[in-house]
Amino acid sequence: MTELATRPPADSAPGPAEADWSAAVAAIRELAPGGRVLLICHVNPDGDALGSMLGFGLGLRRMGVAELQATFPGEFEVPEPFTALPGVDLLVPEGEAWADPDLVIAFDAAAASRLGGLAGRLTAARAAVVLDHHASNAGFGGINLVDPGAAATSVVAEALLTRLDVPLDAEIAECLYVALATDTGSFKFDLTTPRVHEMAARLIATGLSPGDISRRTFDTRPFGAVKLFADVLARAALDPTAAGGHGMVWTYVTQEDLRRHGQRAYVMDALIDPVRTVAEADVAVLVKQTGERTWAVSLRSKGAVDVSAVAVALGGGGHRLAAGFTGHGLPGDVVIAVRDELERHLIAIP
Ligand code: 5GP
Ligand code: MN
Repeated sequence: MTELATRPPADSAPGPAEADWSAAVAAIRELAPGGRVLLICHVNPDGDALGSMLGFGLGLRRMGVAELQATFPGEFEVPEPFTALPGVDLLVPEGEAWADPDLVIAFDAAAASRLGGLAGRLTAARAAVVLDHHASNAGFGGINLVDPGAAATSVVAEALLTRLDVPLDAEIAECLYVALATDTGSFKFDLTTPRVHEMAARLIATGLSPGDISRRTFDTRPFGAVKLFADVLARAALDPTAAGGHGMVWTYVTQEDLRRHGQRAYVMDALIDPVRTVAEADVAVLVKQTGERTWAVSLRSKGAVDVSAVAVALGGGGHRLAAGFTGHGLPGDVVIAVRDELERHLIAIP
């Protein structure tokens, strides 16, 4: 029998307790209709962060919530693939977000630090609800709906909308679908369970066009981005001895690369995908420059290493097979730190 066949389904981990679902529903029913509701997702937002937040925001709007803002920390730049998502009109820059909301709901943030300067809003509000699916999330809200077995935060968002008796419509569904498709790597990763496909079916049944959404979300980029990818992939390095001999491939992308090709920062995020296809390496590392000597580091594993443990050791977080942290110094320094940690977090294959 294969090892896979003996494993329990990946989403059999216990989700949030019934008491937490009830507390979230009660807080929203009590505070949302007449109060100021601030939705926050993590810095450098991806499809799940924006999709789960905007989909849930549209649901609150359908409930009649009038005072509603959605935001994220840092520069107010929505990645091009998400600028046409329904509900983007809810977005405001960090600086315009209410200082004294009644209710705060956080999306897809594994830790308060991922909310940057907006983290304090959770304590300023009368109630704070955290929706997330990172195993490393210790529960930094008053009410925590964290489901490490969920493939995306949008799985948790859909469940909460159901409990609030908000029916899906095509706009809500598009946001939740983009979130689900993004975090499952277009329904390819291990957490792509029957539950994920059942949710996708419910979303598509509202009238979505998965082909159009995938093309817009994953398969569209400027010509300059393709040239940038060529430069960055050309400098990839393979270290077959790293990760206990399972191998590591790594490369980096700088602000100068972006300038030379006239590209915005979000295009760097998709670069990890071609890098992680390298057969000779279990681990892929992409070091993305965000400041003079600061780097956002993406880690991926095919199963030999728990990269979330590596990321946590280096000040970040994430999932077993996809994680990240902020690195300092030169790209080579960052990669040496990763290489050292990889040896400590090899996953024992039974
Ligand atoms: P990505 O490489 O796509 O940016 O992120 C992969 C995963 O790691 C995501 O689940 C993301 O939330 C998490 N992650 C990435 N960077 C950081 C970080 O600096 N801190 C924490 N806590 N998690 C991160
Ligand atoms: Mn996510």
